[in-house]
Amino acid sequence: MRPRAGSKALIREINEALVLDVVRAHRPVARARIATETGLSPATVTGITARLLGAGLLTETDAVRNTGGRPARLLDLGTDAVVAAGVRLSDTEAYVVLVDLRGEVVASHQEPLTSTRPQDVGEGIARAVGLAAASRPSSTLIGVGVAVSGVVDQQSGVVRHSGSMGWEDVALQRRLTALLETPVVLDSYVNSVASGLLLFDGRLAGRDLMIFSVGASLGASVVVRGRVHRGFSGTAGGFAHSSVGRGTGRPCHCGAEDCLETWASHWGIRRELERRGETAGSLVGRDDDVLASAADCLGTAVANAAKMFGPERVVLAFTPEMNVPALTARTEQVFRRQYAHGTTPPPALEIAATGPSGHASGAAYTVLAQLFTAGTSEAETTGARSTTLTVG
Ligand SMILES: [Zn+2]
Repeated sequence: MRPRAGSKALIREINEALVLDVVRAHRPVARARIATETGLSPATVTGITARLLGAGLLTETDAVRNTGGRPARLLDLGTDAVVAAGVRLSDTEAYVVLVDLRGEVVASHQEPLTSTRPQDVGEGIARAVGLAAASRPSSTLIGVGVAVSGVVDQQSGVVRHSGSMGWEDVALQRRLTALLETPVVLDSYVNSVASGLLLFDGRLAGRDLMIFSVGASLGASVVVRGRVHRGFSGTAGGFAHSSVGRGTGRPCHCGAEDCLETWASHWGIRRELERRGETAGSLVGRDDDVLASAADCLGTAVANAAKMFGPERVVLAFTPEMNVPALTARTEQVFRRQYAHGTTPPPALEIAATGPSGHASGAAYTVLAQLFTAGTSEAETTGARSTTLTVG
């Protein structure tokens, strides 16, 4: 095992992350502002920014800001030196995007998967990342984030359970690190979406949020003071497998019965339609008791979870196949009704659309986030800002 970098190198790494994070949050920004925000001396900031400019992580813009003294060129994040890859894994394909330091998607590739065997999936991901990276030969690939539907233990790099992949305890990170020879970070779909919001939506810095994704499967991300709360073994946010208590004995892919997943995920709705002998095609245009029950279960479960945690904002992110008014509008109604007689005000509710590219770029942001938090105790948490900064 390689020893940890020496303290001098570590301090340099942390200071560089502090500077990059201020540029990310306030871009384009003057060196004087960086010094104010980080508490570093102007001379130290000049040294660090020179190194980061040399490495291409920062770039000097043509804009100048005159703050009374000498006009100063503003700094922005460089777009060419490094890219991060994000992979959205499903049972049929690996959807890969490359993002630059500003979070812009600069390349993408969809690689069909022949099976969900971990070995085949690993090789498919490696092929897809290689093809995407080949389109940016001059940029250094700093790492690969992989979003998987299900319960993901990010710390140990293990997918604990994924219904769509049919996986239990798959050590995907170790497999991919060996294949790709670059750092690999795993996360759930919904935590990947959360990472993207936290990194590039300044409104959300340091806030308490809950983000729910509604798609083939259900997921929730619990964000405490701007950090994704993961819980023991990555199990936080596992509301998909909470019981709706209807006692109908619907079997779930997790082994339990009557989970919310069986009522309100696309997988569950499709299964119910098949059980009724209907061809489970698109849900667009449907408005029936199946979608009404889904919305009732979902709106109630989201409100129950939110009441327990007390977030100031709840984001309900629907994938395209679930983004139908009969579901989204009724879910919102049911959610609001749960607060109608309460003594606490409801959190702000945002209905959002998400999808494969959002999951994939979110996975890439979990990698990018580490550049802005390197060396700190928060490095493992995506999108977290350094606690020594007061910004925003
Ligand atoms: Zn279940």
